[in-house]
Amino acid sequence: MIRSRQIQRPQLVLVVDDQEINRDALGVILETEDYEVLYAENGVEALEIMREHIEDLTIVLLDLMMPVMNGIEVLKYVRTDEAMKRIPIIVLTADKSAELEALQLGASDFITKPFDLHEVVLARVNRIIELNEGRNLISAAEHDPLTMLYNRNFFYEYANRLFRYHPDLHMDAIVLNIDQFHSVNALNGRDFGNKVLRLLGAEIRDFLKETDGIACRFEADRFEIFCTYHQEYRSILERFQKKLDGLAPNVNIHLRMGVEPWREGIEPVILFDRARAACNMVRGDYQNSLMIYDEEMLLRELLNQKLLNDLRVAPGEGHFRVYYQPKYDIQCDPPRLCSAEALIRWIHPELGLINPVDFVFLFESNGLIRVVDNFVWQEAARQVAKWKEKYHFTMPVSVNVSRADIFDLTLTDRLLQIMKENHLDFDEMKLEITESACTENVKQVVSLVENLREIGFEIEMDDFGSGYSSLNMLSSMPIDVLKMDMKFVGNIEKSETDRRLVKLILDIAKYLKLRVVAEGVEKESQLALLKEAGCDLVQGFYFSKPLPPEEFEILIQKELDRRRGPVL
Ligand code: C2E
Ligand code: MG
Ligand code: MG
Repeated sequence: MIRSRQIQRPQLVLVVDDQEINRDALGVILETEDYEVLYAENGVEALEIMREHIEDLTIVLLDLMMPVMNGIEVLKYVRTDEAMKRIPIIVLTADKSAELEALQLGASDFITKPFDLHEVVLARVNRIIELNEGRNLISAAEHDPLTMLYNRNFFYEYANRLFRYHPDLHMDAIVLNIDQFHSVNALNGRDFGNKVLRLLGAEIRDFLKETDGIACRFEADRFEIFCTYHQEYRSILERFQKKLDGLAPNVNIHLRMGVEPWREGIEPVILFDRARAACNMVRGDYQNSLMIYDEEMLLRELLNQKLLNDLRVAPGEGHFRVYYQPKYDIQCDPPRLCSAEALIRWIHPELGLINPVDFVFLFESNGLIRVVDNFVWQEAARQVAKWKEKYHFTMPVSVNVSRADIFDLTLTDRLLQIMKENHLDFDEMKLEITESACTENVKQVVSLVENLREIGFEIEMDDFGSGYSSLNMLSSMPIDVLKMDMKFVGNIEKSETDRRLVKLILDIAKYLKLRVVAEGVEKESQLALLKEAGCDLVQGFYFSKPLPPEEFEILIQKELDRRRGPVL
């Protein structure tokens, strides 16, 4: 590859020697190989030409003994100049004793005087040019051109080497990110955005010199730093933040930082995963921009890993159970059991009973919740069919449908298959979709919900009021039931505002012809207030906690007795 470039464009060589005879001799040798040769008679001239041809000069052949400015002085100067440093220099000398000093000053090779055979001189020049081009190519591939920090692949390669071959070095993983970098770009243009990244890159490079570290721009506005154990993390963040303060009048450029301090035997890739997780925890938090990965987060991560791992066997080995929590119609007297919600429970062989709050969010983040939901839908459908056969009575059950299910194209088919296998009608199994799932891709959710309703399913919007749902969304979302988030009920007695809000939600629901379920009712006083406000349905510990099916059957039995009794 290097050869073919040579064919396309003659390479430029600078020969620096005060003796005309030497310049001529080298010129003849080099021109046979199609090099284009420039000449200088002393160090001062040499530096001038180097500066002028900084972009295209391939190599310098430098005599050591010269008037005005000698070769050693040239080498010393070049060492201090970032751009010139990249041009390789071969020293021309008859004086063996100067070799060591020249080498220490960065010379690449020697050609002894009087000159060897032409072929030997050429071979040396060619070899150094090739070595240097190879090095430049590697350097270009290794570095992010904007910040001159490593790119991510080389960074991890070098971080792994440091980890493997220098276990004595205690290295921290630091992740830096600019909050809302897209608005910095949007408000000030990409050139300004690049300037910000370059400035931060330069400050990180300075920091690395002090901490024997390496760093990369992992992507866009994310920087990763692997440096010796430091502890003064806040001052590091402040140092970087200071560089960006006041850069633009109209935007506050805000850095956040996550750190995983050195931990024995943990590979860089894991250290950085944790530092990144810590960094994401302070996203958008302008009060606190630094998060250090701690023991609690480590324990949570280990638990998450265990749960992810054990999920593979849980459904097959009977570790999942579906519990049922009743919903009562409170406008009847006495309240009447009318349906139930199916809720997952994980009876873990080592960890005991695990509640969904400990794993639903984790599995939602990676889509594995579909495994759980599929299990619950099948099990709940089987249970409804079983109760129907046993009691000649339908106990409708609602199942939770998570965000990951909504965007799964097989959802409708999977549900229909389950209904068919268990000979269920649509009023026997209903679907709860959480409000937060409805706020993303509203159009797609609306069309899915429309489709499910056309088929015959009843849809309940779960946790209504917990997120940022707007009334607008409510009017476009074709649902049947609104499940009011439990936070409203929790405060209904204490807070006049919440009482009014509950009333408002009930009025809106009435206007939209939706039924309302109030969740989280624990006290009689709450029940009384809801009843008075016109709420139809209630779910909560006041009536019952979620129960395993054999205990829920007692409630069915009671309900049947009641219906058969004198009240009916
Ligand atoms: P959710 O769907 O809103 O379910 C209601 C939650 O409120 C249940 O918690 C229930 O036990 C709890 N709850 C009911 N009444 C009361 C009360 O009076 N006081 C209090 N403090 N809590 C009450 P659980 O079973 O722990 O489930 C929590 C959440 O986990 C559920 O909220 C749902 O979002 C999710 N989840 C549960 N099972 C499944 C499932 O099978 N699939 C999916 N995707 N999510 C599920
Ligand atoms: Mg629910
Ligand atoms: Mg709910």
